[in-house]
Amino acid sequence: MDYGMYIGGEWTPSASARRMEIICPADGAVVAVVPEADREDVQLAVAAARAAFDADDWSSHLQAPFRAKLLRQVAGALREDVDRLAELESLSSGKPIMETSVIDIHLAADCFEYYADLAAHIGGRQVPLAQQALDFTLREPIGVIGMIVPFNFPLLLAAFKVAPALAAGNTVVLKPSEYTPITALELAKVCERLGMSAGVFNVVTGYGRSVGEALVTHDAVDKISFTGSAETGRRIMELGAGTLKKITLELGGKGPNIVFADCDLAQAVSGALTGAFMNQGEVCIAGTRILVERAIWDDFMTAFLERTAKLKIGHPLSWDTNVGALISGKQLEKVEYFVKQGIEQGGRVLCGGKRPDSPEAAGGFFYEPTVFVDVSPDADVCQEEIFGPVVVMLPFEGEEEAVALANRSRYGLAGGVWTTDIKKGLRTARRLKLGTVWVNNYNLLRVEAPFGGYRQSGMGRELGVEALLDYTQVKNVYVELEDEILYLYE
Ligand code: NAD
Repeated sequence: MDYGMYIGGEWTPSASARRMEIICPADGAVVAVVPEADREDVQLAVAAARAAFDADDWSSHLQAPFRAKLLRQVAGALREDVDRLAELESLSSGKPIMETSVIDIHLAADCFEYYADLAAHIGGRQVPLAQQALDFTLREPIGVIGMIVPFNFPLLLAAFKVAPALAAGNTVVLKPSEYTPITALELAKVCERLGMSAGVFNVVTGYGRSVGEALVTHDAVDKISFTGSAETGRRIMELGAGTLKKITLELGGKGPNIVFADCDLAQAVSGALTGAFMNQGEVCIAGTRILVERAIWDDFMTAFLERTAKLKIGHPLSWDTNVGALISGKQLEKVEYFVKQGIEQGGRVLCGGKRPDSPEAAGGFFYEPTVFVDVSPDADVCQEEIFGPVVVMLPFEGEEEAVALANRSRYGLAGGVWTTDIKKGLRTARRLKLGTVWVNNYNLLRVEAPFGGYRQSGMGRELGVEALLDYTQVKNVYVELEDEILYLYE
């Protein structure tokens, strides 16, 4: 498959005519070829988005019902094409088809529907003043939004940004990950087919250092919405300072998953497995630190290890695959590095800890689900985001120790609590320094509920009404109602 970029309503090659191959990380096959953009292409895309925003026929509040209708149609088009889109997503990202078919594409469609419903209801508030005047606020779109997304949920994480930004009347330049740009381009095809005005939604494919940085430093881009690693987030903040860019960041995590002795053990084991190994651990909210109360340590470990051993590693397009391929050789080496270091720092590997031996896995970036014990809570394997199928198990005694261990992290994205004592669950949820806490569930995102990080996991929120507000700015309007006004200069 051969794609162009979508800029100003046209499918174009890059100015340099350079192209990039998109490789399936499970077998090395070429899935597609896309343009490799650089600064010049970003200029064109931002100019198109700027012109579309300034023309006012998309961004005006009068157009809210039209935007709502279009976003609802985008959702419908995604749902109609779910099988093909899920396949493309799995092929380029390495993640199991079970996940992309059942979760990713549908949740992306949910997101467009949800913000379609909210588009016509974006309003300000009346401000009470103790004088004869009417004061009220308006929520207006910000302008051109540069969006930069990672490889692990390519279409879904784009939808988390594109849907609320468009609903609020902004225009968009989206830079997908260099590994997984296909479904962003497919989304552009949907927008084109539905008759979205030229320049409202643009996709530029290329690398972070060139395309990403050109977006972040461009003075006609009003806001950057970024999802990716903390390291890149830091760089974006530095670069964005030059033009005082509005920035939201969705960064990494090291999710604590607390299992109290009074939990429903079977449910907790299933939830902990999903939290740890979904999308082969390449999940920002992954529950990679499993904290288990000592009284059930043996029972939990036995069940968890038995179930881990049954997980099927395989090609992302096989329906029985539980653990697919990591995105790249570099990512695989990073996982190996952390596992080696974990062992050197005194940790013991109870299962996994290596690439699988099977011949089918030989051509891809696969790694076995890996369970560490006897690790210090301050060891790197317990503190650093590995972004692979690697978990550490830590024992604890009582609520105090559980909360202290869980909060011992510079990250604060998401975590879980397993208990049948709802008061204990709520107490613990309040004490965790996390943007999301699940009680008796894990890895569950709903478009209605805000999502984002405490601490070094980011700033701003995705999803919910909160994300919509993050794509607006507040204008205050004062209307004088006094007949006699005392002016300072008469
Ligand atoms: P990454 O930071 O390497 O890349 C993310 C995106 O940023 C890519 O599109 C990349 O091309 C671009 N980029 C890289 N360097 C850049 C630069 N200097 N300037 C501008 N853009 C640049 O992250 P990744 O490896 O693709 O994804 C994994 C990371 O994303 C993990 O840390 C994970 O936790 C995080 N993540 C966070 C969330 C969340 O919602 N909090 C969700 C998914 C992934």
